[in-house]
Amino acid sequence: MHLARFSRVFLAHLPTPLERLDRLSDALGGPEIWIKRDDCTGLSTGGNKTRKLEFLMAEALDEGADMVMTQGATQSNHARQTAAFAARLGLACHLLLEDRTGSEDPNYNRNGNVLLDHLHGATTEKRPGGLDMQAEMEAVAEKFRAEGRKVYVIPGGGSTPTGALGYVNCAFELLGQANDRGLVIDHIVTATGSAGTQAGLITGLKAINAGIPLTGIGVRAPKEKQEDMVFALAQATAEKLGCPGVVAREDVVADSSYVGPGYGIPREDTIEAIKMFAELEGILLDPVYSGKGAAGLIDYCRSGKFGKGERVVFLHTGGSAALFGYDSVLTGA
Ligand SMILES: *Cc1c(COP(=O)(O)O)cnc(C)c1O
Repeated sequence: MHLARFSRVFLAHLPTPLERLDRLSDALGGPEIWIKRDDCTGLSTGGNKTRKLEFLMAEALDEGADMVMTQGATQSNHARQTAAFAARLGLACHLLLEDRTGSEDPNYNRNGNVLLDHLHGATTEKRPGGLDMQAEMEAVAEKFRAEGRKVYVIPGGGSTPTGALGYVNCAFELLGQANDRGLVIDHIVTATGSAGTQAGLITGLKAINAGIPLTGIGVRAPKEKQEDMVFALAQATAEKLGCPGVVAREDVVADSSYVGPGYGIPREDTIEAIKMFAELEGILLDPVYSGKGAAGLIDYCRSGKFGKGERVVFLHTGGSAALFGYDSVLTGA
């Protein structure tokens, strides 16, 4: 598996730390919980999109782009990391932000990731919820192309086979860290949304025969739909890597029991997870993704789905910038 064959802009702070969470593990009475700190990838408050963008932005440069476009929810971490990466490379960046929550909270609409998008010099346009955002983006890209721009369009979440290579790389990195310190990992848990993170990870894990089950905690789609999305992207990623068929359908496991009322709307266990990580470990989660992923992790520990003596790695995908768009939910104000 020779990732160096693919173009890449080396910009993330890698490897991200792998740390043991003693106080959280103690509070839950086991298992032994470890955290892979992909919230520390180093680009504009970090997060999982940075690994994907290393490969996507390289493809944009290879194609001669002078502008990148992407889309996401108003508080999209992916949009913010794309804006920062574009700034670093001297590319223009245009973002379409979809109103998926209907929130009229000024902080949700202007603070957090939205503030950072604009600080990085990106231009933004809003869209109401429920549109075909890929089609919206293609239409806007055509307008820019007619003006002479060379636009590279990144699908929502950067979840293409190219983007997923970033998480194939993460699987290799994590296994290397575990092997170096004699850590036997029994399970990996992470939030899953547009599917690139889980698809890349499972492809990497299977390609090196790691033998570690991976559970994606869904943040939007129902289980079956989420698993189908991840599986389709994992298949395409494996093909790109030259190991077609390495991922089986049953390797892809998603659990959408922690979504609550909908995408971007935290529920009580999301907020409890954010507070536990903050108060016990000094680590910031977010209300849209990692807070729901951690709510799933905590419930699996409490309910005995993870055994006391097991070692579980939680892949922290970032998102803390969104906290500042959700202050009213977090403080109850
Ligand atoms: C995008 C995102 C995810 C989900 O990753 P996908 O690759 O889209 O499945 C998880 N956590 C955070 C903080 C994110 O921004």
